Amino acid sequence: MRKIVLLTLLMLVMASLASLSAAAAAIPSSQSRGGSMELSKVRWANHTEALTGTAMLRMVMDVSGPVEASGIVVNEPTPRLVVTIKGTTLGKQVEDLTFDGKVVEKVSFDTSGKDTKILVDLPLMVQPNDYKVFTLPKDVKANKPFRVVVDINKPLSPPDFSFTPGLKDKVITIDPGHGGSDPGAIGPSGYQEKSATLAVAQNVKSLLEKAGATVVMTREDDRDVFGPNASDVDELKARSTVANNRKTDVFVSIHCDSFSDRSANGTTTYYYQKTLYDAMLADAVQTSLVDAGNLLDRGAKQANFYVIKRTRMPAVLVEMAFISNPNEEKLLSSPDFQKKMSLGIVRGLERFFSQAAKLN
Ligand SMILES: [Zn+2]
Repeated sequence: MRKIVLLTLLMLVMASLASLSAAAAAIPSSQSRGGSMELSKVRWANHTEALTGTAMLRMVMDVSGPVEASGIVVNEPTPRLVVTIKGTTLGKQVEDLTFDGKVVEKVSFDTSGKDTKILVDLPLMVQPNDYKVFTLPKDVKANKPFRVVVDINKPLSPPDFSFTPGLKDKVITIDPGHGGSDPGAIGPSGYQEKSATLAVAQNVKSLLEKAGATVVMTREDDRDVFGPNASDVDELKARSTVANNRKTDVFVSIHCDSFSDRSANGTTTYYYQKTLYDAMLADAVQTSLVDAGNLLDRGAKQANFYVIKRTRMPAVLVEMAFISNPNEEKLLSSPDFQKKMSLGIVRGLERFFSQAAKLN
């Protein structure tokens, strides 16, 4: 499926936009009953905006008559552009599409209501000025039907990483897990995860700054990053956006683990392998955290967590210890242990930059 679509896409690219007009010559003949319009054909092409040079994907849909179309970007369940074409049914030949994920991951159609909804799954959230939905009138001279056009800008390509040893002049985003309306996990004696993560993050910040690094914090006090009682995805997206909007070298999210079995214990570091460096960063941070805190080494593991997946730079999510374990809860609440963990994270970052520099 993917190969076919990519091939189609490639052909469209090669033929450029001129081909769109040629392909559009197949004017839809069927106009559905009850005055409802029909969407009969969908085409895609890579396109470069003439004025700005912005690379984008353009989707052109033929409709049997004038329609109203609008688009909205949502974050649930994942980043998605929803295009609504009012009072329009879907032609039988229109099928879902799968793409390579550079601009769009998948396109599917929801025809459950009286409008056709086009669900465009995106790899990353886009800003309102990164997409456009508009209609074009029928052009008899050029033999073109009514059309709905969707333009989506290509997200900026991830930067090429080239690391130097040392912490000096590095930009590091620290994300203290939870906060504000979200306490995170709560220990048997009532200590809250959001307190431990903030205390450790603040220590890490001051240690890193002493070493000459610039620290970007997703939150500096007890608050929500997106807003109180927001959906998980909004909250987590807000946190990755803090890092994505800055030229951040690495991203560290700090958490406490929790499990129904109170004997569960130890330290884990999670990563999502999206750059050459994520696993290396996780190994380095995990090694230093275990050295510093002396708890059970549960290892560096892969996970699909939002903040490590949706940040563009190497990223880790650290589970310092189990807040559900009475002993570890006590440790997590003690300034002494918090300092040890902070030092572990900072040494891990230092370890990482020296290893990563050797890859250059
Ligand atoms: Zn957490």
